[in-house]
Amino acid sequence: MEVRLIRHTPKPELLVASAAKLCYSKVGIEDITKNLSRDKQNEFIKKLLKMGHLSPFEHISFTFGIEGISRVCTHQFVRHRIASFSQQSQRYVSFDEAEYVIPPAIKKSLKTKFEKYTEDSLKFYRQLIEEGVAPEDARYILPQSFCTKIVVTMNARELFHFFGLRCCNRAQWEIREVAEAMLTEAKKIAPNIFSDSGAPCVKGACPEGELSCGKPKKRL
Ligand SMILES: Cc1cc2nc3c(=O)[nH]c(=O)nc-3n(C[C@H](O)[C@H](O)[C@H](O)COP(=O)(O)OP(=O)(O)OC[C@H]3O[C@@H](n4cnc5c(N)ncnc54)[C@H](O)[C@@H]3O)c2cc1C
Repeated sequence: MEVRLIRHTPKPELLVASAAKLCYSKVGIEDITKNLSRDKQNEFIKKLLKMGHLSPFEHISFTFGIEGISRVCTHQFVRHRIASFSQQSQRYVSFDEAEYVIPPAIKKSLKTKFEKYTEDSLKFYRQLIEEGVAPEDARYILPQSFCTKIVVTMNARELFHFFGLRCCNRAQWEIREVAEAMLTEAKKIAPNIFSDSGAPCVKGACPEGELSCGKPKKRL
């Protein structure tokens, strides 16, 4: 799996702090970005996060390029509606090689069977295409383990929400790995904004009730 931060709003922490400054002072637009030291920016960011005033975080966005993940994972990913996606098409792109994801829980002889089943699916897919079936119809035979590529853009407020759901141990391992890699990248660019991001137990109680993984209790 590869998760790459392709683009982000320049100076994201300055922009969020400027928007906050506008909300909480008489400043005019011309001056909103002025006199905002790193400490002052952090002060505004902390204040917004503490108050739950999250709309200023919608002004900054992050675009990730992700490859080597399964269609299972992207099916879960694209359920996040406050995000923009561009995914490699199985209608316009046909596949020659079997690139697929094997869940770590599948081991030994089951892994061998898994590989054979997947390779056989690709062989039949190729046969369908050679016999004139369009890739958009031949793809019906491909398993969900097949790899795909996707470009994802989210604003920071949606990223908070996404990380809350998908960095949690209750999320499936593959999308959790994606989310954790995205969080690592986002933190490099905006460490103050994403300092408390992740599963809800990073900053407070676990909302999962009887489905909790138990990790928050161990921390107490
Ligand atoms: C552990 C786990 C298990 C899951 N299991 C299942 C399952 O079994 N079956 C299944 O179908 N899905 C399942 N999901 C997917 C889940 O139901 C959501 O579709 C997915 O997590 C996206 O979350 P979201 O809707 O909050 O996010 P987004 O779509 O990114 O939306 C963000 C927020 O915007 C607001 N919002 C967005 N659209 C609307 C709207 N139309 N109306 C009102 N408010 C809106 C909501 O506050 C929402 O939380 C699971 C998710 C997780 C994390």
